[in-house]
Amino acid sequence: MKRKSSIFINLRLGTVFLVFLFLVLLCAKFIFTDRHIEGQIIENAYGVKITQNILPEDSPLRTCIPRNIKYIVIHETGNPSATADAAAHNHYLECNGDGSTAWHYTVDDSVAYHHIPDDEIAYHAGKGNRSGIGIELCVNNGGNFEKTFENGAKLTAKLIHTYGLSVHSIKQHADFMDKNCPENIRNNDRWTEFLSLVKKYLEEN
Ligand SMILES: [Zn+2]
Repeated sequence: MKRKSSIFINLRLGTVFLVFLFLVLLCAKFIFTDRHIEGQIIENAYGVKITQNILPEDSPLRTCIPRNIKYIVIHETGNPSATADAAAHNHYLECNGDGSTAWHYTVDDSVAYHHIPDDEIAYHAGKGNRSGIGIELCVNNGGNFEKTFENGAKLTAKLIHTYGLSVHSIKQHADFMDKNCPENIRNNDRWTEFLSLVKKYLEEN
């Protein structure tokens, strides 16, 4: 009788343990899943915080077409409105995107937003460019463009490093289309300066 009840207790303890183990694994799955999403993507580029806000797969802006990464393509938003910072562009993509244009990151003077997975096609420099990670630099009035410039170079360096690219992989939107973008950088002849800044961060790595 005593032996029977101890088996019963052991069985109960075993069941409790299995339920506990199941719950632990379930929690681990959620934690792992979250980390998996974040883990594929850079969270911090030389101190620039990247807010991960990947658009859902059913967003009209997502092509869900994987590709190899060959370029980092630099743009400027061309939106001088004082409120047109990275968060505003993130919100725009979430709410107003029509599927014709999308890009991977938006950077302003304090933060970067990540909208589309790096290894997925997004049409930010015409449909001919399928291999570039598109980065939009904000030009909002009142924003500190020097800091945005620096943050853009930091994010570019981090991506170059992550994907084993070289500075020759850094392109302007204008390299793919007849468009004066990134406009401020081009108009002020600062492209070489941008590349040098990327190189500087790469050397720090
Ligand atoms: Zn552009």
